[in-house]
Amino acid sequence: MKLDTEISVAFKNTPIQIKSLERIGVKKVQDLLYYFPSRYQDFKDVLLIRDLKKGEKVVVFARVNSIKTGKAYRKKIPLSEAVISDETGRVKIVWFHQPYIARIIQKDSLVRVFGKIDCKNGVLYFTNPEIEKVSRIPAGASSALFKQNDGVFDPIYPETKGLSSSWFYHRIKKILLSKALEEIQDPIPDIILKKYSLPTLKTALIWVHAPKKEEHSALARKRFAFEEIFFIQLVRIKQRALYEQKLAFEINPPHAQTKQFLERFPFKPTNAQYKAIKEILIDIKKPEPMTRLLEGDVGSGKTLVAATTTHAVINSAPKDDKYARLQVAYMAPTEILARQHFDSFIEYFSHLSIQIGLLTGSECRRFPAKVLTKEQKGKGSTKISRTQLLKWVENGDISILIGTHALIQKTVEFKNLAYTIIDEQHRFGVRQRALLVAQKSKNNKSTTRKTIPVPHLLSMTATPIPRTLALTIYGDLDLTLLDEMPHGRKPIITKIIKQAKRNAVYSDIKKEIESGRQMYVICPRIEEPDLQKTQALLVKSVKEEARRLKKDIFPNQEIEILHSKMKPQEKEQIMNRFSMGEINILVTTSVIEVGVNIPNATVIIIEGAERFGLAQLHQLRGRVLRSNHQAYCYLFSSTERAVSIKRLNALKTAKNGFELAELDLELRGTGGLSGSKQWGITDIGMEAIKNIKMVEAARKEAQVLIKKDVELKKYPLIQKRLSDIKNEIHLE
Ligand code: ADP
Ligand code: MG
Repeated sequence: MKLDTEISVAFKNTPIQIKSLERIGVKKVQDLLYYFPSRYQDFKDVLLIRDLKKGEKVVVFARVNSIKTGKAYRKKIPLSEAVISDETGRVKIVWFHQPYIARIIQKDSLVRVFGKIDCKNGVLYFTNPEIEKVSRIPAGASSALFKQNDGVFDPIYPETKGLSSSWFYHRIKKILLSKALEEIQDPIPDIILKKYSLPTLKTALIWVHAPKKEEHSALARKRFAFEEIFFIQLVRIKQRALYEQKLAFEINPPHAQTKQFLERFPFKPTNAQYKAIKEILIDIKKPEPMTRLLEGDVGSGKTLVAATTTHAVINSAPKDDKYARLQVAYMAPTEILARQHFDSFIEYFSHLSIQIGLLTGSECRRFPAKVLTKEQKGKGSTKISRTQLLKWVENGDISILIGTHALIQKTVEFKNLAYTIIDEQHRFGVRQRALLVAQKSKNNKSTTRKTIPVPHLLSMTATPIPRTLALTIYGDLDLTLLDEMPHGRKPIITKIIKQAKRNAVYSDIKKEIESGRQMYVICPRIEEPDLQKTQALLVKSVKEEARRLKKDIFPNQEIEILHSKMKPQEKEQIMNRFSMGEINILVTTSVIEVGVNIPNATVIIIEGAERFGLAQLHQLRGRVLRSNHQAYCYLFSSTERAVSIKRLNALKTAKNGFELAELDLELRGTGGLSGSKQWGITDIGMEAIKNIKMVEAARKEAQVLIKKDVELKKYPLIQKRLSDIKNEIHLE
């Protein structure tokens, strides 16, 4: 057996196992070595039922004799009850507020129960313990002799169809005892390992799968966490170093014009906005491309920064051809948002004689319109063909091209693309970001430059993420914070509403709507599901909720729905009517989450709030913080679970998105960070995210290596790993 032996050659597997192995990405022997236990069974805490004592926190392995759901006596709270037994006795379990337990665990299941022992009238029982099914009772636990094994840890692997934890255990043990282990070479230089007291790769692999002490597994995990962050940093920092070697258009911003442009807005920019604009203008003056992240809470006014810097770019001609205009590309994650930016930019730029294009999967438009109708009053745009639009982009007639992912298609070519902006950049993958930047300008014939310049990049996001994560995933970007809200914004009044208070809330809302404000109602799904099949999932749907609100609650209001399955024209029509104030209540899904800007909408109801992540709730709530009217956010929740309520409460206490992100990290652990998958960080890597020192160390070491040697010629093992990671990123 060797490290690169195919797994199907090394072990005999059933067809189901082969499929599952493929799914979890285990192709070779070495992949199995990197399949880590999710945790360890520590037999110190395991007791036989005979030995249970009041007040102790223990683990018991047992069989389920009976399980049922009911209501607690007098108080009408839902209750689940079970009786479990092992060879030494039986014990009862009660769970309050967890009626679903009886659906997950069946009679005769083998289970692991972890929790506290209570006592009533001399009878011992578990209250609200954790329970999970296990496929076997571990050897140590079924025998009264297990105590002799004190300190031996049984690794528990994430199971999947056909592959039990013990399947992994036995195969991996074989590999650890084979010659394959001798082949392992550590890509992390010794000197770094010593500096941070990390085990070598070989030792860490043994320790993570077969720890003799608790400390071993912890040290091994620490090493793998460091390793993961270290390599992500290396990829990012290397990319950045290589990108900086390229040429960009040197933008000489016309300061007087920029000032005039800002004066046209009906409000005064915040200091943070001024500062951000200044930082960007300094960056784009240089011949090397800018790569900057603008991070600002929802409603902090990022669009103004984007528009002002765009203005500076299109008003400064390329050095070598003063008749050509530079171009700007602006990419947004949804069609609704792209259209909204297109319309705002027409507003901002209509006094200049420039052309603006809109390119999405479903439509192409150009400003100014060819024939203006009366209502368009010089601000209209016309629908045009894709081919026509792309031609005008290529010959440089269109100065600003706004769009969705459609912008990164190969057929889109610019003449002088000098500046690209990505809005809500967390909604795009690393690859999409790279593709937009790689968007080359058509070689301008009059240019004397040998190299084609690359665009300056401004990424914008409102997703507040903990600093450690930002350092890791945005390691290649300079950061500008928009840490100030426009003057006069009142904090949103956020309330968590239980079922019983629903009607009282509706009558408060009625007053707001009657005084002229508008409301969003967010539902977790579009349609009512087939009730037969999913009775358990009683989740509000857009269609049904809109019907109900119209019939029972707000009969005098204009109510409409909006969701992703509607045609673009329908969506556009609804958004237009909502922004004109013709619709009072918009019932929708989380499609409305990013960026949408209707200042008069000041109330938002979020149904099934516990189903959304904190960051997403924060974004949704941001929809109503767009003006100086008092805004309200009502979180309707059907859960009684203390953790969920605590999480929702964080929305009331956290002062801003960043504080919220740190809280989410604390409450839910890294698993709760929205979209950790999209960043390509594994669970073990996310452990490092909790540790700022480790992230900083990994970053520092990566910087040192790249600075010494961008190509990493002296580190072939690192080079190889980086090219593997690159391939993975490309598959994203
Ligand atoms: P976000 O940062 O979430 O993208 P937007 O750019 O959509 O925020 O701005 C939110 C709202 O605030 C818009 O209606 C915008 O016109 C307004 N706005 C932006 N900057 C200011 C400011 N300095 N003073 C007052 N209103 C502002
Ligand atoms: Mg925005």
